[in-house]
Amino acid sequence: MKTNKGIVFFVGAGPGDPDLITVKGLKCIQVADVIVYDRLANPELLNAARKDAEFIYCGKQPNHHSIQQEQINEIIVSKALEGKTVTRLKGGDPCVFGRVGEEAEKLDQQGICFEIVPGITAGIAAPAYAGIPVTHRNVASTFAMVTGHLCNDNTISPDKWKALATGIDTVAFYMGMGNISNICNQLIHYGRNPDTPVAIVSWGTTEDQRTIISSLNTIEKTLQEQHISSPAIILVGEVVHLRERLSWFAENS
Ligand code: SAH
Repeated sequence: MKTNKGIVFFVGAGPGDPDLITVKGLKCIQVADVIVYDRLANPELLNAARKDAEFIYCGKQPNHHSIQQEQINEIIVSKALEGKTVTRLKGGDPCVFGRVGEEAEKLDQQGICFEIVPGITAGIAAPAYAGIPVTHRNVASTFAMVTGHLCNDNTISPDKWKALATGIDTVAFYMGMGNISNICNQLIHYGRNPDTPVAIVSWGTTEDQRTIISSLNTIEKTLQEQHISSPAIILVGEVVHLRERLSWFAENS
């Protein structure tokens, strides 16, 4: 049945470097009537949009309040119901801690068509730009992506901590900077070697990228000496040592 409803493209903008968006993602920006974008989607990408495209920013506002998720859902739904082509641009990959599930479900309820265009996620890209492949044939054969947000209030069960500490070679924590001591202590508590190296990569793949190397038991001291800001990936595992040989991207400081 033909409808006059629009369509929504959920597009991964990639981790920061605007060249890291996919060809398909870029096409979705070029055709959009409306682009709804997040704080971590590089705004340079908007230069590829049509001159008459409408831009709606959904990140933190000047008063530090973010637009509520409900409001974002409403905006996307109402623009699509007007028959518009909407590109919902999200940092990294839309399916990795990107709430694409919640937003797409609303569209489904309204019978609005959507597509998901994957992007390069920060947990792989930021380490790659720091010279750290997240897997390596001789060093790491398992890799997990974990939200550091939940680590604070024991929402990660002991079983999961144990699995992360002893069963996974490389672990990337997203949104973990406010919780980093707890994360490292939990991993040690559940059986990870305290000397396991840790890399913190902030603003990965951008000109502001900064990498700090430490270990699970020295991270607190390291952070007292060196300041590093969000957004950052905390990468735990022996692969971090590969940076000593594979660092290739010039960082400013
Ligand atoms: N969908 C995104 C993740 C969103 S959660 C993705 O796939 O990458 C937001 C978290 O992602 C941040 O708190 C940070 O941990 C991480 N992040 C996003 N961009 C980053 C970047 N350029 N460098 C380092 N970490 C980044």
